[in-house]
Amino acid sequence: MSKYQLQVKGIDKVFTSGSLFKKSHFKAVNNVSFHVKQGEVLAIVGESGSGKSTTARMITNLIKPTSGEIFFENTNIKDKKFQKELPERCQMIFQDPFAALNPNHTIGYAIGRPLQLKNKVEGSVREKVLELLTLVGLTPAEDFIEKYPYQISGGQKQRVVIARVLGLEPEIIVADEPTSMLDVSIGIDIMNLLLDLKEERNLSYILITHNLGSARYMADRIMVMYAGEIVEIGDCEEVINSPKHPYTKLLLQSSPDPWETNDEVIDFIEPIDTKMPQTGCKFQNRCPFAKEICRSSEISITPLSDKREVRCNLYEKEAVTI
Ligand code: ADP
Ligand code: MG
Repeated sequence: MSKYQLQVKGIDKVFTSGSLFKKSHFKAVNNVSFHVKQGEVLAIVGESGSGKSTTARMITNLIKPTSGEIFFENTNIKDKKFQKELPERCQMIFQDPFAALNPNHTIGYAIGRPLQLKNKVEGSVREKVLELLTLVGLTPAEDFIEKYPYQISGGQKQRVVIARVLGLEPEIIVADEPTSMLDVSIGIDIMNLLLDLKEERNLSYILITHNLGSARYMADRIMVMYAGEIVEIGDCEEVINSPKHPYTKLLLQSSPDPWETNDEVIDFIEPIDTKMPQTGCKFQNRCPFAKEICRSSEISITPLSDKREVRCNLYEKEAVTI
Protein backbone atom coordinates (compact mmCIF):
# COMPACT_ATOMS: atom_id res chain seq x y z
CA MET A 1 0.00 0.00 0.00
CA SER A 2 1.18 3.49 -0.82
CA LYS A 3 2.51 5.78 1.88
CA TYR A 4 0.09 8.38 0.57
CA GLN A 5 -3.64 8.23 0.05
CA LEU A 6 -3.41 10.81 -2.69
CA GLN A 7 -0.36 11.79 -4.67
CA VAL A 8 -0.36 14.52 -7.27
CA LYS A 9 2.63 14.61 -9.59
CA GLY A 10 3.34 17.68 -11.69
CA ILE A 11 -0.16 18.49 -12.91
CA ASP A 12 -0.81 21.32 -15.37
CA LYS A 13 -4.10 22.66 -16.64
CA VAL A 14 -4.27 24.77 -19.77
CA PHE A 15 -7.65 26.25 -20.70
CA THR A 16 -8.21 27.10 -24.33
CA SER A 17 -10.70 29.68 -25.40
CA GLY A 18 -11.50 31.78 -28.46
CA SER A 19 -12.69 30.97 -31.96
CA LEU A 20 -11.51 28.36 -34.43
CA PHE A 21 -9.11 30.89 -36.00
CA LYS A 22 -7.88 32.75 -32.98
CA LYS A 23 -7.32 30.59 -29.95
CA SER A 24 -5.88 31.71 -26.65
CA HIS A 25 -4.38 29.48 -24.03
CA PHE A 26 -4.28 30.11 -20.34
CA LYS A 27 -2.30 28.02 -17.88
CA ALA A 28 -4.44 27.96 -14.74
CA VAL A 29 -2.34 25.34 -12.91
CA ASN A 30 1.39 24.89 -13.42
CA ASN A 31 3.40 21.86 -12.34
CA VAL A 32 1.62 21.23 -9.04
CA SER A 33 2.80 18.28 -6.91
CA PHE A 34 1.70 17.33 -3.42
CA HIS A 35 0.43 14.42 -1.36
CA VAL A 36 -2.17 13.73 1.31
CA LYS A 37 -1.83 11.01 3.94
CA GLN A 38 -4.78 9.12 5.32
CA GLY A 39 -6.50 11.02 8.13
CA GLU A 40 -4.74 14.28 7.21
CA VAL A 41 -6.20 17.70 6.45
CA LEU A 42 -4.39 19.65 3.75
CA ALA A 43 -5.54 23.22 3.27
CA ILE A 44 -5.02 24.86 -0.11
CA VAL A 45 -4.98 28.63 0.34
CA GLY A 46 -4.53 31.52 -2.05
CA GLU A 47 -6.41 34.46 -3.47
CA SER A 48 -9.19 34.16 -6.00
CA GLY A 49 -7.94 32.91 -9.36
CA SER A 50 -4.86 31.15 -7.97
CA GLY A 51 -5.96 27.76 -9.34
CA LYS A 52 -7.36 26.13 -6.18
CA SER A 53 -10.69 24.99 -7.63
CA THR A 54 -9.08 23.86 -10.88
CA THR A 55 -6.71 21.69 -8.83
CA ALA A 56 -9.66 20.30 -6.84
CA ARG A 57 -11.60 19.52 -10.00
CA MET A 58 -8.66 17.60 -11.44
CA ILE A 59 -8.27 15.53 -8.26
CA THR A 60 -11.94 14.57 -8.32
CA ASN A 61 -11.72 13.83 -12.06
CA LEU A 62 -14.28 16.47 -13.01
CA ILE A 63 -11.71 17.82 -15.45
CA LYS A 64 -8.59 16.16 -16.85
CA PRO A 65 -5.10 17.55 -16.31
CA THR A 66 -3.34 18.73 -19.48
CA SER A 67 -0.31 16.84 -18.19
CA GLY A 68 0.86 15.18 -14.98
CA GLU A 69 -0.45 12.25 -12.97
CA ILE A 70 -2.72 11.78 -9.98
CA PHE A 71 -2.57 8.61 -7.88
CA PHE A 72 -5.19 7.44 -5.41
CA GLU A 73 -3.19 5.06 -3.21
CA ASN A 74 -1.28 3.23 -5.94
CA THR A 75 -3.78 3.61 -8.74
CA ASN A 76 -3.55 6.24 -11.43
CA ILE A 77 -6.96 7.90 -11.61
CA LYS A 78 -6.77 7.65 -15.40
CA ASP A 79 -7.35 3.91 -15.00
CA LYS A 80 -10.69 3.24 -16.70
CA LYS A 81 -11.87 0.66 -14.14
CA PHE A 82 -10.88 2.88 -11.24
CA GLN A 83 -12.82 5.85 -12.62
CA LYS A 84 -16.02 4.05 -11.61
CA GLU A 85 -14.81 3.77 -8.01
CA LEU A 86 -13.28 7.21 -7.69
CA PRO A 87 -16.48 9.30 -7.35
CA GLU A 88 -17.42 7.31 -4.24
CA ARG A 89 -13.98 7.19 -2.68
CA CYS A 90 -13.22 10.86 -3.30
CA GLN A 91 -16.17 13.20 -2.88
CA MET A 92 -16.43 16.95 -3.29
CA ILE A 93 -18.32 19.55 -1.28
CA PHE A 94 -18.89 22.85 -3.07
CA GLN A 95 -19.06 26.39 -1.82
CA ASP A 96 -22.73 26.96 -2.60
CA PRO A 97 -25.12 24.68 -0.69
CA PHE A 98 -28.03 26.60 -2.26
CA ALA A 99 -27.05 25.43 -5.74
CA ALA A 100 -26.16 21.91 -4.63
CA LEU A 101 -29.73 20.89 -3.74
CA ASN A 102 -32.57 20.53 -6.22
CA PRO A 103 -35.43 22.76 -4.96
CA ASN A 104 -38.02 20.24 -6.22
CA HIS A 105 -36.76 17.35 -4.12
CA THR A 106 -37.06 16.75 -0.39
CA ILE A 107 -34.00 16.48 1.85
CA GLY A 108 -34.79 12.78 2.23
CA TYR A 109 -34.66 12.31 -1.55
CA ALA A 110 -31.47 14.37 -1.89
CA ILE A 111 -29.66 12.08 0.56
CA GLY A 112 -31.45 8.82 -0.20
CA ARG A 113 -31.38 8.76 -3.99
CA PRO A 114 -27.57 8.48 -4.40
CA LEU A 115 -27.60 5.69 -1.78
CA GLN A 116 -30.14 3.78 -3.87
CA LEU A 117 -28.32 4.39 -7.12
CA LYS A 118 -25.02 3.19 -5.68
CA ASN A 119 -26.60 0.26 -3.80
CA LYS A 120 -25.19 1.54 -0.55
CA VAL A 121 -27.99 0.29 1.73
CA GLU A 122 -29.08 -3.23 2.42
CA GLY A 123 -32.08 -2.41 4.63
CA SER A 124 -34.35 0.62 4.64
CA VAL A 125 -33.09 3.70 2.78
CA ARG A 126 -35.28 5.85 5.04
CA GLU A 127 -33.56 4.47 8.15
CA LYS A 128 -30.15 5.17 6.62
CA VAL A 129 -31.16 8.75 5.71
CA LEU A 130 -32.42 9.32 9.27
CA GLU A 131 -29.11 8.00 10.60
CA LEU A 132 -27.13 10.33 8.32
CA LEU A 133 -29.29 13.35 9.25
CA THR A 134 -28.65 12.63 12.92
CA LEU A 135 -24.93 12.22 12.25
CA VAL A 136 -24.72 15.73 10.79
CA GLY A 137 -26.74 17.23 13.64
CA LEU A 138 -30.06 17.73 11.83
CA THR A 139 -32.30 16.49 14.62
CA PRO A 140 -34.96 15.38 15.14
CA ALA A 141 -34.22 13.75 11.80
CA GLU A 142 -37.91 12.97 11.17
CA ASP A 143 -38.57 16.72 11.01
CA PHE A 144 -35.99 17.24 8.28
CA ILE A 145 -36.51 14.27 6.02
CA GLU A 146 -39.71 15.61 4.40
CA LYS A 147 -38.57 19.23 4.17
CA TYR A 148 -37.62 21.03 0.96
CA PRO A 149 -34.38 23.03 0.63
CA TYR A 150 -36.24 26.39 0.83
CA GLN A 151 -37.52 25.43 4.29
CA ILE A 152 -34.05 25.17 5.86
CA SER A 153 -31.18 27.62 6.43
CA GLY A 154 -27.87 27.85 4.52
CA GLY A 155 -25.96 26.11 7.31
CA GLN A 156 -28.53 23.31 7.42
CA LYS A 157 -28.28 22.94 3.64
CA GLN A 158 -24.52 22.49 3.90
CA ARG A 159 -25.16 19.80 6.56
CA VAL A 160 -27.51 18.03 4.12
CA VAL A 161 -24.77 18.17 1.47
CA ILE A 162 -22.29 16.69 3.97
CA ALA A 163 -24.79 13.92 4.88
CA ARG A 164 -25.25 13.08 1.20
CA VAL A 165 -21.48 12.90 0.70
CA LEU A 166 -20.98 10.74 3.82
CA GLY A 167 -23.66 8.29 2.67
CA LEU A 168 -21.32 7.25 -0.14
CA GLU A 169 -18.61 6.46 2.44
CA PRO A 170 -15.75 8.40 0.86
CA GLU A 171 -12.15 8.22 2.07
CA ILE A 172 -11.17 11.71 0.94
CA ILE A 173 -13.41 14.76 0.88
CA VAL A 174 -12.38 17.75 -1.17
CA ALA A 175 -14.21 20.75 0.31
CA ASP A 176 -14.04 23.84 -1.91
CA GLU A 177 -14.68 26.90 0.27
CA PRO A 178 -17.39 24.99 2.23
CA THR A 179 -18.09 27.82 4.66
CA SER A 180 -17.47 30.95 2.63
CA MET A 181 -21.15 31.56 1.87
CA LEU A 182 -22.23 31.06 5.47
CA ASP A 183 -22.27 33.38 8.47
CA VAL A 184 -19.05 33.15 10.48
CA SER A 185 -20.55 31.32 13.48
CA ILE A 186 -22.42 28.86 11.24
CA GLY A 187 -19.20 28.33 9.29
CA ILE A 188 -17.39 27.43 12.53
CA ASP A 189 -20.15 24.91 13.36
CA ILE A 190 -19.66 23.30 9.93
CA MET A 191 -15.88 23.17 10.41
CA ASN A 192 -16.38 21.53 13.83
CA LEU A 193 -18.75 19.02 12.27
CA LEU A 194 -16.20 18.19 9.57
CA LEU A 195 -13.46 17.76 12.20
CA ASP A 196 -15.65 15.45 14.32
CA LEU A 197 -16.58 13.34 11.29
CA LYS A 198 -12.93 13.12 10.30
CA GLU A 199 -12.01 11.65 13.70
CA GLU A 200 -14.96 9.28 13.68
CA ARG A 201 -14.38 7.96 10.16
CA ASN A 202 -10.64 8.49 9.69
CA LEU A 203 -11.30 10.70 6.67
CA SER A 204 -8.79 12.86 4.83
CA TYR A 205 -9.71 16.33 3.68
CA ILE A 206 -8.45 18.77 1.16
CA LEU A 207 -9.85 22.05 2.37
CA ILE A 208 -9.81 24.86 -0.13
CA THR A 209 -10.07 28.31 1.32
CA HIS A 210 -8.94 31.88 0.77
CA ASN A 211 -9.10 32.34 4.52
CA LEU A 212 -5.98 31.50 6.52
CA GLY A 213 -8.08 31.46 9.71
CA SER A 214 -10.09 28.46 8.45
CA ALA A 215 -6.91 26.74 7.29
CA ARG A 216 -5.33 27.26 10.69
CA TYR A 217 -8.45 25.94 12.40
CA MET A 218 -8.66 22.73 10.43
CA ALA A 219 -5.45 21.80 8.69
CA ASP A 220 -2.40 19.71 9.50
CA ARG A 221 -0.56 21.12 6.52
CA ILE A 222 -0.98 24.23 4.37
CA MET A 223 -0.24 24.62 0.68
CA VAL A 224 -0.17 28.19 -0.59
CA MET A 225 -0.90 28.81 -4.25
CA TYR A 226 -0.26 31.91 -6.31
CA ALA A 227 -1.01 32.28 -10.03
CA GLY A 228 -1.42 28.54 -10.54
CA GLU A 229 1.74 27.50 -8.72
CA ILE A 230 2.57 26.24 -5.25
CA VAL A 231 4.67 28.94 -3.59
CA GLU A 232 4.92 27.32 -0.18
CA ILE A 233 3.90 24.10 1.53
CA GLY A 234 4.50 22.87 5.06
CA ASP A 235 3.10 22.01 8.46
CA CYS A 236 0.31 24.38 9.45
CA GLU A 237 2.00 25.72 12.59
CA GLU A 238 5.31 26.26 10.83
CA VAL A 239 3.82 28.06 7.84
CA ILE A 240 1.75 30.35 10.05
CA ASN A 241 4.44 30.96 12.68
CA SER A 242 7.26 31.44 10.25
CA PRO A 243 5.99 32.10 6.72
CA LYS A 244 8.80 31.99 4.18
CA HIS A 245 7.37 33.15 0.87
CA PRO A 246 6.61 36.89 0.63
CA TYR A 247 3.13 36.00 -0.66
CA THR A 248 2.40 33.88 2.42
CA LYS A 249 3.54 36.86 4.52
CA LEU A 250 1.15 39.08 2.61
CA LEU A 251 -1.71 36.63 3.19
CA LEU A 252 -0.94 36.58 6.90
CA GLN A 253 -0.74 40.35 7.09
CA SER A 254 -4.08 40.73 5.43
CA SER A 255 -5.71 38.07 7.57
CA PRO A 256 -8.30 39.64 9.91
CA ASP A 257 -6.80 37.79 12.84
CA PRO A 258 -3.05 37.77 12.22
CA TRP A 259 -0.95 35.32 14.16
CA GLU A 260 0.47 37.12 17.20
CA THR A 261 4.04 35.93 16.70
CA ASN A 262 4.38 37.63 13.32
CA ASP A 263 4.87 41.32 14.01
CA GLU A 264 7.05 42.08 10.99
CA VAL A 265 5.15 44.43 8.68
CA ILE A 266 6.29 44.54 5.08
CA ASP A 267 5.24 47.09 2.48
CA PHE A 268 3.84 45.09 -0.39
CA ILE A 269 3.29 46.59 -3.78
CA GLU A 270 -0.34 46.54 -4.79
CA PRO A 271 -1.00 44.78 -8.08
CA ILE A 272 -1.30 47.64 -10.57
CA ASP A 273 -1.58 45.72 -13.79
CA THR A 274 -3.12 42.30 -13.59
CA LYS A 275 -0.92 40.84 -16.33
CA MET A 276 1.29 38.06 -15.07
CA PRO A 277 5.04 38.37 -15.73
CA GLN A 278 6.07 36.11 -18.60
CA THR A 279 9.46 35.19 -17.17
CA GLY A 280 10.72 34.71 -13.65
CA CYS A 281 8.76 34.67 -10.43
CA LYS A 282 5.03 35.33 -10.88
CA PHE A 283 4.97 37.39 -7.69
CA GLN A 284 7.87 39.70 -8.72
CA ASN A 285 5.73 42.81 -9.36
CA ARG A 286 4.18 42.71 -5.91
CA CYS A 287 7.26 41.58 -4.02
CA PRO A 288 9.29 44.13 -2.01
CA PHE A 289 12.31 41.78 -2.13
CA ALA A 290 12.37 41.18 -5.88
CA LYS A 291 15.89 41.17 -7.37
CA GLU A 292 17.08 40.99 -10.95
CA ILE A 293 17.30 37.20 -10.80
CA CYS A 294 13.61 37.03 -9.81
CA ARG A 295 12.73 38.74 -13.09
CA SER A 296 15.12 36.93 -15.37
CA SER A 297 15.09 33.27 -14.39
CA GLU A 298 12.54 30.67 -13.41
CA ILE A 299 12.56 29.55 -9.83
CA SER A 300 11.69 26.02 -8.89
CA ILE A 301 10.13 24.86 -5.66
CA THR A 302 12.89 23.99 -3.21
CA PRO A 303 12.84 21.79 -0.10
CA LEU A 304 13.94 23.55 3.09
CA SER A 305 13.35 20.39 5.14
CA ASP A 306 11.55 17.11 4.51
CA LYS A 307 8.26 18.85 5.29
CA ARG A 308 8.75 22.36 3.98
CA GLU A 309 9.08 23.63 0.44
CA VAL A 310 9.20 27.17 -0.91
CA ARG A 311 9.46 28.75 -4.35
CA CYS A 312 11.57 31.85 -3.73
CA ASN A 313 15.09 33.05 -4.49
CA LEU A 314 15.44 34.39 -0.94
CA TYR A 315 15.82 30.83 0.36
CA GLU A 316 18.06 29.30 -2.26
CA LYS A 317 20.96 29.08 0.19
CA GLU A 318 18.82 27.32 2.79
CA ALA A 319 17.83 24.57 0.38
CA VAL A 320 18.53 21.01 1.47
CA THR A 321 18.79 17.84 -0.58
CA ILE A 322 16.32 15.22 0.50
P1 ADP B 1 -9.53 29.76 -7.51
O1 ADP B 1 -10.39 28.58 -7.17
O2 ADP B 1 -8.20 29.75 -6.82
O3 ADP B 1 -10.23 31.08 -7.32
P2 ADP B 1 -9.75 28.78 -10.23
O4 ADP B 1 -9.08 27.45 -10.19
O5 ADP B 1 -11.23 28.78 -10.22
O6 ADP B 1 -9.18 29.69 -9.07
O7 ADP B 1 -9.28 29.56 -11.51
C1 ADP B 1 -7.93 29.73 -11.85
C2 ADP B 1 -7.85 30.50 -13.14
O8 ADP B 1 -8.35 29.69 -14.21
C3 ADP B 1 -8.70 31.77 -13.15
O9 ADP B 1 -7.98 32.78 -13.81
C4 ADP B 1 -9.93 31.38 -13.92
O10 ADP B 1 -10.48 32.47 -14.58
C5 ADP B 1 -9.38 30.33 -14.90
N1 ADP B 1 -10.38 29.32 -15.25
C6 ADP B 1 -11.02 28.48 -14.41
N2 ADP B 1 -11.86 27.66 -15.07
C7 ADP B 1 -11.75 28.01 -16.39
C8 ADP B 1 -12.34 27.53 -17.62
N3 ADP B 1 -13.22 26.53 -17.60
N4 ADP B 1 -11.97 28.14 -18.77
C9 ADP B 1 -11.07 29.13 -18.79
N5 ADP B 1 -10.46 29.62 -17.69
C10 ADP B 1 -10.79 29.08 -16.51
MG1 MG C 1 -12.36 28.56 -6.39
